[in-house]
Amino acid sequence: SNQIEVDVLIIGAGPSGCVAAAYLNKKGVKVKVVEKSKFPRFVIGESLLPKCMEHFEEAGLLHVLENHGFEIKRGARFLRDDIVCNFDFSKKHTAGWDWTWQVPRADFDDLLATEIKKQGVDLSFEHEVVDTQIDNNGISITNIKDENGQQYTIKANFIIDSSGYGRVLPRLLGLDKPSSIPEHSSMFTHVKDINRPDGEEGTLITFDVLDRDTWFWVIPFSNGDTSIGFVGKTELIESYEGDMENMLKLSKYYHKRFENVDFKFNPISIKNYAKSVTQLYGKGYVLTGNSAEFLDPVFSSGVTFATESALKAAKLIDKALNNQSVDWQVEYSDYIMKGVNVFATYVKEWYTGNLQTLFFHRPENPEIKKQICAVLAGYVWDETNPFVKKHDRLVKNLAHIIHMNEKENNTD
Ligand code: FAD
Repeated sequence: SNQIEVDVLIIGAGPSGCVAAAYLNKKGVKVKVVEKSKFPRFVIGESLLPKCMEHFEEAGLLHVLENHGFEIKRGARFLRDDIVCNFDFSKKHTAGWDWTWQVPRADFDDLLATEIKKQGVDLSFEHEVVDTQIDNNGISITNIKDENGQQYTIKANFIIDSSGYGRVLPRLLGLDKPSSIPEHSSMFTHVKDINRPDGEEGTLITFDVLDRDTWFWVIPFSNGDTSIGFVGKTELIESYEGDMENMLKLSKYYHKRFENVDFKFNPISIKNYAKSVTQLYGKGYVLTGNSAEFLDPVFSSGVTFATESALKAAKLIDKALNNQSVDWQVEYSDYIMKGVNVFATYVKEWYTGNLQTLFFHRPENPEIKKQICAVLAGYVWDETNPFVKKHDRLVKNLAHIIHMNEKENNTD
């Protein structure tokens, strides 16, 4: 027949879908992953956070990533004018991973997808979810279009929507809501990094802060290519109309290095990328990763949030399938939103300028730096960290104190 029955249908084979699939498959749950595109495929989101290493490890996917030789990321550098703010993940408040990778996602996601297939997950590429019907018991019948344009249906007890920018269930179920993050856009490409300097300077991930709203990322890969991208107000990004060559002149620090390099593809723009939803779960479904929420690339939290939410959702579904009760509001939504809200504060305070004030204030306070570093490493659920627990006040208050002191010094 043209209907398949599974316990769990997973939409999308990005990091979120792969982590959920691998975990559930290990638990003996019957899953099916449908992925619209053919891998390897490009997607943005190349700088990971140490926290996500835990997720790949627990899902049984870390070993394939370790063997690939991705560029190792041990921290992050922020530049503004002549001031350098270097975060070193080995100096952070929360215990846990102190390194991760900088990855071209086409390769990275392909490794993950190939591995889950090898582990026995039923994954179909070029199969696209076009529609779904979920009944009052949470049983869903989902229409899929395959690579030949033929339609079939999948009956499932749960859907995990890991469709990223596809935002399948938010669209089909009308769950979209405007994000509380101020609107920004981005333009980026990959380059053949022929002028890459030797040593750490060449491979260091850097955020070059051009003004309060505008910054430039440099993410070197171990294959000799480097990802470069601008983030700024939508009007600014639009005013360059895809003219990356000209926009590169905005970065005094990097202009020379990227002046005459080849772009691997025409610069891509993503406008007003912040996304949110009215609810993260419902009867028979749960949203994970970018399909649920996307804030801003400034702290590279996207993939880590995608894998954290995927692992959590997978664990809860496994529990539910074993007839244990699950409080989705508390155990999923409230938990996930705790982390999202911490990052949301940091993103907002980045663009108010308050966080930039803390980053570039000299002299640095090592204790505070360790606490902020743990947030930037993705450890946003650790409430022993005052910069997690009191995120909504601490950044603002500290920046205020710094500003007051500066004013006093200026009037002395
Ligand atoms: P994705 O990786 O997008 O995977 C979703 C998959 O679902 C895709 O393969 C897609 O083809 C598939 N799909 C879509 N629709 C359907 C359908 N109808 N049927 C079947 N399959 C479907 N994150 C970071 O961690 N670090 C960064 O440095 C970073 N930089 C960023 C820069 C910018 C400018 C932007 C906008 C985002 C950035 N992100 C970054 C965020 C990152 O791109 C995402 O958070 C991350 O890719 C989310 O992973 P995911 O698995 O949820 O979705």
